Amino acid sequence: MHAGKKRTGGWASLMPLLLLAALLAGCSGSGSAQGVSEDGKLLVTATTGMIADAAAEIGGEFVEVTTLMGPGVDPHLFKASQGDIRKLDRAKVVFYGGLHLEGNMERILEKMALRKTVVAVTDHMPRERLIGTENSEEFDPHVWFDVDLWTVAAEHMRDTLIAADPANEAAYREQGERYVRELEQLDAYVKQRMLEIPEEGRVLVTAHDAFGYFGQAYGVEVVGLQGISTAAEFGARDVSTLRDYLVERNIKAVFVESSLPARSMEAIVAGAARQGHEVRIGGELFSDAMGEPGTPEGTYIGMIRHNADTIAEALK
Ligand SMILES: [Zn+2]
Repeated sequence: MHAGKKRTGGWASLMPLLLLAALLAGCSGSGSAQGVSEDGKLLVTATTGMIADAAAEIGGEFVEVTTLMGPGVDPHLFKASQGDIRKLDRAKVVFYGGLHLEGNMERILEKMALRKTVVAVTDHMPRERLIGTENSEEFDPHVWFDVDLWTVAAEHMRDTLIAADPANEAAYREQGERYVRELEQLDAYVKQRMLEIPEEGRVLVTAHDAFGYFGQAYGVEVVGLQGISTAAEFGARDVSTLRDYLVERNIKAVFVESSLPARSMEAIVAGAARQGHEVRIGGELFSDAMGEPGTPEGTYIGMIRHNADTIAEALK
């Protein structure tokens, strides 16, 4: 779901900054208990669910993790509310994606970094494994779809928790190692599922270019309708280009995403049908947000498994 139209100008757009200034002025004299819960847990705030999930797995019982963006929330458009700024403010450690994933939160995160640990989980990823974007020097931020690359984020988070709370180093090491092993198994699982699809059919067509890392890691050609960020515009010409591509390549299924409206993909399916080519919606993929808490897809591992299963079943 999109976060709605951007507000331009007006007092509403200044509110987060004014509030931030007030918080910065008011909190400088806090005591040593800042950043720790009443029952002694390290307070961690994460932007996306995928990051929060890793923090909770690695931190276990020694951390209390708060997530800013729930199911269906689009990080590219997300703007921090006053409540969100409070969640950032009370934390001892803030984890975010970086690489401009949280495009509207950068100033707030920069200010927070002046007085607490604020870490982009992509910081230690080897630059040569990152995917560049067209027309700019920026990198594609959707790194969590390369599970092996995501282990680098998990290790960076583990080291950050150890530095913030050295008394529990042994637990963070043990839990971090267990989680990385689970990610390695997940990586192998996704590889195996993609091999079930005939090589010429390994084409993933989705509405926005969230799956570049998935394609790179698992040998799947990825075709998107929109640019890297959902904030980019797309128009009728993109729709017809993609429709022609589907007809030409004889692609059987396209996929919709949990954090984007299905409208554009439905238009392409209808357009292909008018040209006598049957394309179906192969299912819903999780892209920039996980599923509902308490469901298998409400975890990072469950979300990736769901995507791999959905793609394999529709294309094999
Ligand atoms: Zn995205």
